[in-house]
Amino acid sequence: MAYRRGYGVTKNNGLEELVGRRVIETRKGGVWLLKNPSTNKGLAFSREEREQLGLGCMLPNRICTIEEQVQLELEHLRAKSTDLEKYIGLASLQDRNEVLFYRVLVENMEEFMPIVYTPTVGLACQQFSHIFRTGRGIWLTPDDVADIPQILRKAPQRDIRLIVVTDNERILGVGDQGCGGMGIPIGKLGLYVAGAGIHPSMCLPISLDVGTDNARLLEDPLYLGYRKRRLRGQAYDDFVEAFVQSVLQVFPRALLQWEDFHNRQAFRILDRYRKQVLSFNDDIQGTGACALGGIMAGLRLTGGSMAEQRVLYMGAGEACIGIARRVACAMRAAGAGADVVQRAQIMFDIHGLVRSGRETCDPQAIPFAASPETLASYGLADANTSPDEVIAAFKPTVLVGATACQGAFRQEMIVEMAKHVERPIIMPLSNPTGKAECSPSEAIAWTDGRALVATGSPFAPVEYDGRRQVIGQANNVFIFPGLGLGAVVSGLREITDEMFTIAARTLSECVSDQRLDSGALYPPQSELREVSRQIACAIVKYASDHHLGRHIPDFEIEDTVRGAMWYPDYVPIVRKP
Ligand code: NAD
Repeated sequence: MAYRRGYGVTKNNGLEELVGRRVIETRKGGVWLLKNPSTNKGLAFSREEREQLGLGCMLPNRICTIEEQVQLELEHLRAKSTDLEKYIGLASLQDRNEVLFYRVLVENMEEFMPIVYTPTVGLACQQFSHIFRTGRGIWLTPDDVADIPQILRKAPQRDIRLIVVTDNERILGVGDQGCGGMGIPIGKLGLYVAGAGIHPSMCLPISLDVGTDNARLLEDPLYLGYRKRRLRGQAYDDFVEAFVQSVLQVFPRALLQWEDFHNRQAFRILDRYRKQVLSFNDDIQGTGACALGGIMAGLRLTGGSMAEQRVLYMGAGEACIGIARRVACAMRAAGAGADVVQRAQIMFDIHGLVRSGRETCDPQAIPFAASPETLASYGLADANTSPDEVIAAFKPTVLVGATACQGAFRQEMIVEMAKHVERPIIMPLSNPTGKAECSPSEAIAWTDGRALVATGSPFAPVEYDGRRQVIGQANNVFIFPGLGLGAVVSGLREITDEMFTIAARTLSECVSDQRLDSGALYPPQSELREVSRQIACAIVKYASDHHLGRHIPDFEIEDTVRGAMWYPDYVPIVRKP
């Protein structure tokens, strides 16, 4: 099968062959075309195609438009009684007819993003072995360590530009899900395609199935993964090293996104490989940019400057450290001196206040550990200070929660915070929904309606005192698809920290004044493609200016990025002469 080069789309790093194609030529026909999700059009095969391609009587007589097909799919999906059933229905559609799947998703982003991604994907990962229908992506187990390049070469596509890989150990807030974690790379890549128009054939989900320590899975006779305890220590590191070297060898142009690794591994892996292979960690860096974008949008309402913020974190894991790193950068850029930045962020983790010299401090949290001087400057002397006491003294303007612990934001904490700040920014980010540190309605009620709330999972608007407050979702989907698109268009060599700050700032500027007035710190998901486009343009410009990617003159950036974005629509399929 060959794609004839399209026209009118140029200079976008080879993407035109896929995005701008106008026709698919094939020697295949009949059932093969129907069974292949990238060629199947179902009832939308035209009369001529049916005749030419040997599809004669394999379909009912009626020819449907893609719009009618979308309508039919919506009918099927909406008739399903649970979100998990909808997830299974959408996954089956993806396996049957890729163009139609993405068309349904792109046109109904708000409705189906919570199905293909958080929160429903969390449940799908937990149930994976029992809802599995067909393979997608690549699973690598420790038994494959010597053969990874050969296995990767068997991927259905050659020109892979985006890989999302997980070792399944920290899936959302639901922990080790063994082989079921594959739902996350599949879901995230679906969002790259729907949210930024990266062509599906460039995307490859990978699971490093190194075993599981989840007893429920190991005891399940129908568990589908590698039924051993997790690979640990040097053997684990060797496996990851073999994987990275294989990716460099087989897919040298690919951007590697590390996803849902336990923080024991995530920071090490990111640091070790970020200069060796084009890569980033969404849980750390993507979250950092996403939360910073929400805070910056909030400051448009409150009128504050980044340099003046004080941020209290419940949690000191991947998400909170990623956010704290980004906030520190943004504060410095806004003119705050090193000592101000150092004093502006305080963290709690499962062991209590993160402070210098504490024995149980994770290495990545050490730069943010409160020193005795910092604590003293707020009149805090006792090492065992409670969050309530710290809030009373530190007077945070922003409260971030990423603990995967429901109830970690107690009423007393929020009430205390609201005593000192007119419009507190409150971000209970934990996923899925049931893990949120508090609900938006609680945060709003406890602050007499003054809180600006953003959550990790989607929540309905809150009515308070006759006013309707829209809850923006701090979903990393507002960052990674645009960043990925920018990286692919630019042919980036490295993803730098600065790029995440640029993405955050761009995201904050994408929130309309009207949306901000309704209380939302993030745009609606229906605007995702536009947000991604703007972030990609900003990244391409930065990379071009700093010689980190291809040089693209400013006046060509908009067109180049737009031309690289695939919109799901059928193209004619003709028999190759
Ligand atoms: P992690 O395991 O790396 O970190 C969790 C942290 O929370 C640890 O520091 C732990 O000590 C701390 N903790 C646990 N219980 C606590 C409690 N009761 N009080 C204070 N601290 C407590 O996990 P992570 O990757 O940082 O993710 C945490 C949560 O954030 C997950 O639910 C995840 O889904 C969510 N998250 C949301 C977004 C988003 O909204 N965009 C992005 C990333 C992660």
